[in-house]
Amino acid sequence: MERCERCDGSKAEPGTDVVECSTCHGEGKVHRTQRTFFGQFQQVTACPTCQGEGQTVKSACAQCSGRGTERKSRKIEVQIPAGVEHGTRLLIHGEGESGGKGARNGDLYVHIGVERDKIFARRGNDVMMSAEVNMAMAALGGIISVETLDGIVDFNIKAGTQSGAVTRIKGAGITHMGATGRRGDQLVELKVVTPKKLDDRQAELLHELAESFGLERVGENPKAGHGIFDRVKDAFRGEEDNS
Ligand SMILES: [Zn+2]
Ligand SMILES: [Zn+2]
Repeated sequence: MERCERCDGSKAEPGTDVVECSTCHGEGKVHRTQRTFFGQFQQVTACPTCQGEGQTVKSACAQCSGRGTERKSRKIEVQIPAGVEHGTRLLIHGEGESGGKGARNGDLYVHIGVERDKIFARRGNDVMMSAEVNMAMAALGGIISVETLDGIVDFNIKAGTQSGAVTRIKGAGITHMGATGRRGDQLVELKVVTPKKLDDRQAELLHELAESFGLERVGENPKAGHGIFDRVKDAFRGEEDNS
């Protein structure tokens, strides 16, 4: 409810008089005397005719029917503080219900809901994300580019990185609420990705690599009896033989 523009909250049709309330004679309150067994009591209450205002109108405002306020819908801009959390309630002074003539307006409370993001997840003031690292880079080290709240940054992958390792980009997280201006970190979970397709040369290089690790000939079409399943079966058979 906002103050009526036509009567500026006075409740009177413009040009007509606001007069002293005849019930309370402008006092806004009425005194009632009660006689009881214990004696006489005076009770003071708000005047029922003028609702305690001490005035009544001769002719009610045509726009608000003499209420002094009218229902209005209005868009306002609200400053969202950095670091705001899901469920935070912002207090906007004076944007609530009209207080009527001479009184201050109520306040508006805005409940903040933080949307989910496709890339980032939030944990406190840290943001978390995952990034894929090719297995060759995970083994040898290198540089990858990742999205941050401030844009894309490059960072180093250490040689020998394991899948699931988490690296931290200091200060790339969410700004702490309040004046400190400190920020959380960005945590990047590295997922080592095995290529699904290899060309002939890549396959040959990997075979060589496998042999250098002392692995038997691995991969598709392994020598009969030397596939992984056969080796597992052999292992179980071996156990049975031992018992
Ligand atoms: Zn009005
Ligand atoms: Zn009155």
